[in-house]
Amino acid sequence: MIYLDNNATTQIDPQVCKKMSLFLEQQFGNPSSLYPIGREAKEFINEARENIADLLGAKRSEIIFTASGTESDNFAIRGVMEAFPEKDEFITSAIEHPAVIETANYLKKSGKKVFFIPVDPYGFIDLDLLQKKVTSKTALISIMHANNEIGTLQSLEEIVRIAKSKDALVHTDAVQTFGKIKLDVQKLGIDLLSISGHKVYGPKGVGALFVKKGTPLLPLIHGGHQEGKMRAGTENTAGIVGFGEAAKIAQERLKKDKKRLDKLADQLKKGIHSSIPDIKFNGPEEERIKTTLNFSFLKLEAEAVLLALATKGIYVSTGSACSEDSDEVSHVLTAIGLSPDQARSCIRFSIGRFNTEKDINTVLQELPEIIENLRKISSSI
Ligand code: PLP
Repeated sequence: MIYLDNNATTQIDPQVCKKMSLFLEQQFGNPSSLYPIGREAKEFINEARENIADLLGAKRSEIIFTASGTESDNFAIRGVMEAFPEKDEFITSAIEHPAVIETANYLKKSGKKVFFIPVDPYGFIDLDLLQKKVTSKTALISIMHANNEIGTLQSLEEIVRIAKSKDALVHTDAVQTFGKIKLDVQKLGIDLLSISGHKVYGPKGVGALFVKKGTPLLPLIHGGHQEGKMRAGTENTAGIVGFGEAAKIAQERLKKDKKRLDKLADQLKKGIHSSIPDIKFNGPEEERIKTTLNFSFLKLEAEAVLLALATKGIYVSTGSACSEDSDEVSHVLTAIGLSPDQARSCIRFSIGRFNTEKDINTVLQELPEIIENLRKISSSI
């Protein structure tokens, strides 16, 4: 198998599995219990919190564990909007993950004023319009760091500068950048930031939200006193410990991995460009996560390309995994100006830690012939 869908999810790192297995097989104590197996579980959770905080340049007390990146996004947005009843405006972008878009739609239905900032053909948000739209009634701006479909990296520093000019808070969905590029929440001046375990070779079903000290936020889930009373529910100890281990490994390997994976991505991008005609690269050339590559194979249905690649054991995506099982055209690809037909011809390749140069060479060997054959079939219909 050649797995090139690392933005959808990643293979769990064996070292993460090993660390988690202690909590799945033996260490079953409730972290709230006062006897040794409870206290030990709590200590491991705090160690995981430390690892994640370190990778973000945050303090341990600023990390709240959740059940997913989706929950972190919901929590940040609803939690801040509810904490500011006197401010009823929320601003986001047109290319956010559904976890943000649908939360924005929920706010709209409940009477808040919501504005979606459009993007240019490369996926960069219109910063002039953002400056015009933000007012003293804006409680929160939520703009993703890297887009999951086309890799565009937004200028968070600039967004924070605009937000602060009107006293608005800033949340960013950094699910696709955490562990891939260096993040420093203090330098960025971000107030809230969402991350997810399964995108960084950790387990599924665990996420976290960074909340800068002093940020007004109301809990989304009510119940017990876990996570400083901000996220009730007995902790997913194995998941949290696994996420912490994944963060520790990411910290150790960040520079080396980035260099190697960016090189593989360049190789794949150049190879596709030089061997396949009638294609369009979607996304910017600079200011991007290089390991996310999105191409339109014009006049073809992406699903046919995906299935043909799958018969060769090569796994890619037709867009974001979250929209793959629906007929809807990706809102990201339409927002950057693709026609519905162009959007339906898009394949996303996302490269990760376990990919090798051999994987890329195999794809470059198989793909041109697959595209040529599919085009022959489609032109004969
Ligand atoms: N945000 C972005 C940018 C994502 O890519 C994803 C997952 O694809 C999520 C949020 C949701 O994360 P999770 O799968 O942990 O809910």
